[in-house]
Amino acid sequence: MTTVALVVTGSIAAYKAPVVARGLLAKGFRVVPVMTRSAKEFVGRTTLSGLTGEPVHVDSFEAESGELHVEIAARADAVVVVPATADILARMAAGRADDLATALLLTTTKPVLVAPAMHPGMWSHPATQANVRTLVARGVRFVGPVDGVVASGDHGMGRMAEPEQIIEAIVSAVQGERDLEGRRIVVSAGPTVEDVDPVRFISNRSTGKMGFAIAAAAVRRGAQVTIVAGPVSLVTPPGAVRVDVRSALSMKAALEHALGPDLSGADALVMTAAVGDYRVRETKAEKLKRSAEPLTIELVQNPDILASIGASRASLGKDLPLLVGFAVETGTDEAIKNEGRRKLTAKNVDYVVANPAAEAFGGDDNRAWIVGADDVVEPGRLSKSELADLILDRVVEGLKARAK
Ligand code: C5P
Repeated sequence: MTTVALVVTGSIAAYKAPVVARGLLAKGFRVVPVMTRSAKEFVGRTTLSGLTGEPVHVDSFEAESGELHVEIAARADAVVVVPATADILARMAAGRADDLATALLLTTTKPVLVAPAMHPGMWSHPATQANVRTLVARGVRFVGPVDGVVASGDHGMGRMAEPEQIIEAIVSAVQGERDLEGRRIVVSAGPTVEDVDPVRFISNRSTGKMGFAIAAAAVRRGAQVTIVAGPVSLVTPPGAVRVDVRSALSMKAALEHALGPDLSGADALVMTAAVGDYRVRETKAEKLKRSAEPLTIELVQNPDILASIGASRASLGKDLPLLVGFAVETGTDEAIKNEGRRKLTAKNVDYVVANPAAEAFGGDDNRAWIVGADDVVEPGRLSKSELADLILDRVVEGLKARAK
């Protein structure tokens, strides 16, 4: 049975937590209630335990043996905070574990969803907004708050989302959308490395985070995923097959192998890798010695892997695999978008995710435009995992359109 740990914190909106609990029970979930100490001032412990048929946990030290937060984290398929006060968002962002609720939130590896409820002044405070950004970047999902009247009678952004909306968000967080079931997706990720000699190389600043986020999201959405990765120090998303490569030529060979000569090995290729445009003409077998003379290393162009797959697809007269490229650019937002459009045509692909170089590498979030043949999605700054889902939404749409 799917189990949801329902953390209730001390906001007036806590009186709606039992409605959310009841809605989840009606959907067939088991609900394990956890309260903060201040939540007890707003909603009855007996109400929650009566509804859920479970003891309401408040204190970390209630368990006769073992660690309660670890036990609950092991049982729960998701942890939801309804309502979430400014205080719990701050404690979550800081990684605190000073009560059972925060210890549980720090222990779980499952989806975490929060439904904030607070005075609009507290919600809009820069401290809260910074905490929200931190949590979003870590993958915490938010439902609400919404604009409306809050407990004090004031009006503004801070009212908790309605229970039905929260229940719906919890259901989709737990079940996830398996809209890529049966699809095969190949993702390239990370940098490529071109060796100069046995100790030196030319590479770039890509860390692979974006590609790994796409691979993880695609697995979650039901796809069979192969990730072709340049040298990166990231954990393979469970369920994905990983092929490690080093140079652009080895990445090309691995991708061609995964797709097969008639490109029938995948329904979509998401080319996130920052493929080096050049390699050294001749990799030296011995270490280059320092000399008084300036050193010239001759570079030759690498093949454009994506453009060559785009060209093969066109010459085969196929519309699959769906091709998604990335374009890391410098310049104004408008120039970056235009480069995205240019590459869409130049490389014969279906979508180009264009993003500013200064914001693309290394971080946990990204700002991008998803450029398609007819439109551009401009989601603004998002965590890489949220952007991954938006890109996959386009992939799902594109695959559906081609199946017609
Ligand atoms: O032209 P640019 O390097 O900006 O294009 C970026 C897109 O093309 C990315 O999707 C990247 O993975 C792909 N690419 C490639 N082979 C290259 C260079 C880029 O597949 N040699």
